[in-house]
Amino acid sequence: MVEAVTPLIELKAIRKQYGGLDGAPVVEVLHGIDLRIHAGEFVAIVGQSGSGKSTLMHILGCLDSPSSGDYFFQGKDVARLDADSLARLRREAFGFVFQGYHLIPTESARENVEVPAVYAGTPIEQRNARASALLERLGLAERQANRPHQLSGGQQQRVSIARALMNGGHIILADEPTGALDSQSGKEVMALFHELADAGHTIILITHDRSVAAQARRVIEIRDGQIVGDSGKAEQTQAPMPDALANFWEPTAQPTERAVQGEELREALRAAWRTMRVNRARTLLTLLGIIIGVASVIVMMAVGEGARQRVMAQMGTMGTTIMYMSGTKPVTGGPRGILSDEDLAAVRTLPEISRVMPVIGDPITVRFANVSLQVYVFAANEEMPSMHHWRVAEGRYYTAQEDKSLAPVVVLGAAMRKRFFGDKSPVGELLLIGNSPFEVIGVMEERGADSGAQSYDDMVFIPYQAGRARVYQAQTQPDYVVMEAASSDVVFEAERSVRDLLMARHGDREDFSIGNAAARLQAEASTRRSMTIMLGLIAAVSLLVGGIGVMNVMLMSVKERTREIGIRMATGARQRDILRQFLTESMVLTVSGGMTGIALAALLGIGLALVGMDMVFSVSAIVGAFGCAVITGLVFGFMPARTAARMDPVVALAGE
Ligand code: ADP
Ligand code: MG
Repeated sequence: MVEAVTPLIELKAIRKQYGGLDGAPVVEVLHGIDLRIHAGEFVAIVGQSGSGKSTLMHILGCLDSPSSGDYFFQGKDVARLDADSLARLRREAFGFVFQGYHLIPTESARENVEVPAVYAGTPIEQRNARASALLERLGLAERQANRPHQLSGGQQQRVSIARALMNGGHIILADEPTGALDSQSGKEVMALFHELADAGHTIILITHDRSVAAQARRVIEIRDGQIVGDSGKAEQTQAPMPDALANFWEPTAQPTERAVQGEELREALRAAWRTMRVNRARTLLTLLGIIIGVASVIVMMAVGEGARQRVMAQMGTMGTTIMYMSGTKPVTGGPRGILSDEDLAAVRTLPEISRVMPVIGDPITVRFANVSLQVYVFAANEEMPSMHHWRVAEGRYYTAQEDKSLAPVVVLGAAMRKRFFGDKSPVGELLLIGNSPFEVIGVMEERGADSGAQSYDDMVFIPYQAGRARVYQAQTQPDYVVMEAASSDVVFEAERSVRDLLMARHGDREDFSIGNAAARLQAEASTRRSMTIMLGLIAAVSLLVGGIGVMNVMLMSVKERTREIGIRMATGARQRDILRQFLTESMVLTVSGGMTGIALAALLGIGLALVGMDMVFSVSAIVGAFGCAVITGLVFGFMPARTAARMDPVVALAGE
């Protein structure tokens, strides 16, 4: 009757060899183990050190696979299971207790206990409650928040027993659980196993200590990889099989993958945040590349956009129809050309040209009463306000007639009005410009700071002819001539007509030059654009360097935490769980790097704005830079994460 029951675990001729790779000699550690263990047994496997006990336990616990032989779990051949099913077996059927406790050092006692439940997808409240209850039952109610290094050996071992029980712990596999404990703690742990055995748990205890083994209900002796003694099954092997094991291979209600993922993601985020905080300095240094990359992309885009908008605004106020002309020395040699009044009159007759304004300007001493200032005296014709899209605030501007008749009148910039007259009305007063008196007839509207150069508000404006006759007597021609094309469509045609006309008038000598504002502004905009592209490349390189930094720190992290990866696998993590955890970590790294970068960009932005830089921050630049950082994290975090996920559980557990 008893024999008719399928054994929980059945090993047939299990052999395990090590070596054979890289020329290492092949060593056979297990030489054909046959073993049957039924549900509810309390078995001790005893043998000297080096006899193969741990190797056997790793095979029993599906942490390692045999070189040959068969392993049946509930009648099912384990060799046929894929990595995920093996992980499920470890997660739901087994609970491991190791000699060295194998707790995750960065996590608290309770969090360590919860690890298997995270991979089982148990909701957080349930998980917390069960972990607390288990720790309480094992006498650690007060120690739940302590990290492993704050606990004694006996306490750590009890935490690891609680962890083994977290998902049910139907089969407890304990490798030298008392080996590192003082005798009192050892006794307590053994008493605990007895209790668990009475409660129906199957317990497989491995020890080199005969007195410990003797406390089990069945003792199996192993020597040099072979079973040399077996006290046989104890009576109560007919203990009822727990439901969870009886139906283990039925496609029963398992938590949905989505629930598992949700719990895990939350857990991975928490763990990632903790590791990041533990290694603060290293994290910050690694993230510099990303922080600088993100911040510089955002700031550069903002500066570029600010400059572009300013150029656009300038084109708006200056007009895209404006051209400048002045006399120059021709490239073929000879004297500088002179733009005579007759030349300008001829230009004015061209149909593509709507306005022509000669300009002379220089700082001159201007006096009123006892105030004497160096003022830029702008001599131009009556076209000035319309050319500059500027209005008169007080009084009036001079007329073409006044210009022609050399009228000594002056219009003030807003700042000059204040300087000379304060709050009094200036209209009708006489200003001394150089040595000539000029009557104030009006004041311009305040214009505010234009880009660079001199503010128009600080100037005074006099008629061109009066200027030449009374102030700039030495000047034979205008400093420059401003011309306005009839419309923005004909600017380039207008420029060509003016050139042709003047070439004809100047005997085919190109002793003048014409510039057009639209072209100049466009050229300026395009240099800005290429600069933005270059700076963008620098930012991209910086992000790349940041990504490599992330890869480096993740590789280091995987190396340092090999043992932790082993522990997680032993408690039931699938390969994709490990992959996901490390990917989450690199994402958390880059996301925080990206956010810090955005914060830094904001600070830089405030700083530059205070210095007077025009900046326009765009949401798309911020989102784009941040997105690039996160993608960098994913791409560069993938390789280390995959390395971690592909580790062999036994190898990882043995790792430092
Ligand atoms: P026990 O736990 O009984 O002390 P182990 O199962 O740990 O023994 O080891 C049994 C034998 O197998 C020892 O001689 C050990 O040196 C050898 N061994 C264990 N693991 C490896 C390995 N990964 N590579 C080579 N030999 C190993
Ligand atoms: Mg061992």
